Amino acid sequence: MAGPVIRQRIALLGATGSIGRSTLDVVARHIDRFQIHALSAHRDVDRLVALCAQFHPAVAIVADTSCYPALRDGLAAAGLSTQARAGTQALEDVAADPGNDTVVAAIVGAAGVASTLAAARAGKRLLLANKESVVLAGELLAQAAAAGKATVLPVDSEHNAIFQCLPADGSRGGVRRLVLTASGGPFRGRSRASLVAVSPDEACAHPRWVMGRKISVDSATLMNKGLEVIEARFLFGVQASSIEVLVHPQSVVHSLVDYVDGSMLAQLGNPDMRTAIAFGLGWPDRLDSGVAPLDLAALGRLDFEAPDPAAFPCLGLAYAALATGGTAPAILNAANEVAVAAFLDGRLPFLGIPGLVEATLSALSPEPAGSLDVLLACDDRARRRATELMGGMTTA
Ligand code: NDP
Ligand code: MG
Repeated sequence: MAGPVIRQRIALLGATGSIGRSTLDVVARHIDRFQIHALSAHRDVDRLVALCAQFHPAVAIVADTSCYPALRDGLAAAGLSTQARAGTQALEDVAADPGNDTVVAAIVGAAGVASTLAAARAGKRLLLANKESVVLAGELLAQAAAAGKATVLPVDSEHNAIFQCLPADGSRGGVRRLVLTASGGPFRGRSRASLVAVSPDEACAHPRWVMGRKISVDSATLMNKGLEVIEARFLFGVQASSIEVLVHPQSVVHSLVDYVDGSMLAQLGNPDMRTAIAFGLGWPDRLDSGVAPLDLAALGRLDFEAPDPAAFPCLGLAYAALATGGTAPAILNAANEVAVAAFLDGRLPFLGIPGLVEATLSALSPEPAGSLDVLLACDDRARRRATELMGGMTTA
């Protein structure tokens, strides 16, 4: 007689966001394999309670502690037995909780770093969407994952593609280059001068992917690709000089690995994050993700071009921060988060984003990135300095 079916237990951090929604869509297709142990949000209590009513997790967390009463009362009013928790420590605790096997790190920004590291230290299967945590603390994350024997499965589509194209035994023999593709975002082909007055809504109107607003702006500036170069450096242990960026407007080739024998392996698919998420959830099995098969004949052609460094200086800034090393990527990331939030609020023009990142990198001296405390202090300092510098820029 068959034994009881053991379902994979998942903590989904950032459940109310774009990646969170896509993850739950895949989970709902395979409810025989997966069980939701915990869900988290920042402040969107209504949506979190609605998700709890659908997936019945043991725990629900709001990162903002002022939202705790609303979450507790909302769960009670819905007649749910889900336990309400709040705060960043609760996120870290649940990431390491033995009640789950898998942590999906889908919080946006540096706010996700502590829980991502906690999941790695605790040896979880870690589905990593929160690229900012790798940019901020790449070395520490690699050490934590090795010490905890965690399985890190990249969800960012480019890194997921590269993971699929690299040898399964983890060796890097024969690899010449990693080639990260970039859609080019909504402003591909535009000159720097034509980007002076673009609005947040124009920047968020991504031609291929539907994503949260922060990453949409990052895609429009190409900072997203810059963050991804840093992410690839730490996830795959290759030097920056072996990582290239190639603009590919159809977003069908998600990335490539170039081998010394002249072979290039690529992973292709429709631009839908459920493919990478299903890969991470099911690995080493393949699961139906709900994504339509790719129709290459209908597509007809695939285009590639080099990125334009004059119109999109963020990519070069990211390579420079990686070359500097230490806390420079953390400074880059913090300044970018401040700049993007200000742009979305109408307080900084689009071209002010690379301007502010560059000014913040010049204003602060990087140090060795020895511990999370050093990195978080650096993150805080960079945010404060970026905010001061922005005052100078906008009033000038
Ligand atoms: P969204 O903005 O759509 O969602 C962000 C999630 O994080 C929400 O659940 C939000 O909660 C929560 N959150 C926001 N701020 C905090 C905070 N300070 N503390 C705790 N939780 C917080 O983002 P995306 O889903 O687009 O992106 C998530 C991550 O995945 C990012 O790092 C992004 O770069 C990466 N990624 C996303 C892709 C995509 O297609 N969207 C593709 C590849 C990578 P609330 O709803 O309450 O605000
Ligand atoms: Mg990506």
